[in-house]
Amino acid sequence: AQIASARGLVKIYGKGEAAVRALDGVDVDLARGELTAIMGPSGSGKSTLMHCMAGLDTATAGSIVVDGLDIGRMNQRKLTSLRRTRIGFVFQAFNLIPTLTAEENITLPLDIARAPLDREWFDAVVDAVGLRDRLDHRPSELSGGQQQRVACARALVSRPSVIFADEPTGNLDSRSAAEVLSFLRRSVDELGQSVVMVTHDPTAASYAHRVLFLADGRLVGEVQDPTRETVL
Ligand code: ADP
Ligand code: ADP
Repeated sequence: AQIASARGLVKIYGKGEAAVRALDGVDVDLARGELTAIMGPSGSGKSTLMHCMAGLDTATAGSIVVDGLDIGRMNQRKLTSLRRTRIGFVFQAFNLIPTLTAEENITLPLDIARAPLDREWFDAVVDAVGLRDRLDHRPSELSGGQQQRVACARALVSRPSVIFADEPTGNLDSRSAAEVLSFLRRSVDELGQSVVMVTHDPTAASYAHRVLFLADGRLVGEVQDPTRETVL
């Protein structure tokens, strides 16, 4: 089954002479229970595709279905609610609140949504991400890799339908990147999540179940069970 699909997706920024066709008719199906990586050169439309599919940006044409919901037909209020309850986000910058502890950062989305904490799920996420003994630390007391793992746990805490990660290892050294990537992979294999990750790093992409390649706003290929060599 699909966790998210797009058909005939077109995104044009600007108007007239200055118009940029960032997405030029993308059809894509993202599988439930997989880690999907999206690769492609800078400017190929990776971030635009992710932002449209996550309901952060509206497409110029085409349709998008996320977890069975047609997001093209949603008003802003419904989109906001969808993003809060069914979608988790991880960005290149960790975007943690410096005055809150790791635990408070992780549970913040629940506080904002006034949703209850499922303690069993929280414990499973914290153990999978390897942060049990760091929960009382503030971001400044954590390494970059630990901060990004807190951000990943925050994305998972509401048990979303799908997690979108935009260059999640872009600010990390290779060892920290490996910790974050193996957690994202384990969140799929062991916790049953679905993750979509934009990256230009072949090592990062090799953690995915499937890699999709974009070029000039079009999907130009894919690799199943990638290795670093097959996505270079
Ligand atoms: P990638 O993530 O692969 O680097 P992007 O989706 O960021 O690609 O960009 C795709 C194209 O759209 C590029 O030509 C970029 O310059 C253009 N673009 C992206 N965002 C905007 C924007 N807000 N306004 C105008 N052009 C944009
Ligand atoms: P394990 O769960 O086997 O101890 P990790 O937690 O480090 O391993 O990684 C989880 C999954 O991520 C592995 O089962 C493997 O599919 C993938 N993985 C781990 N390391 C790499 C790597 N260097 N390159 C590609 N994929 C990797």
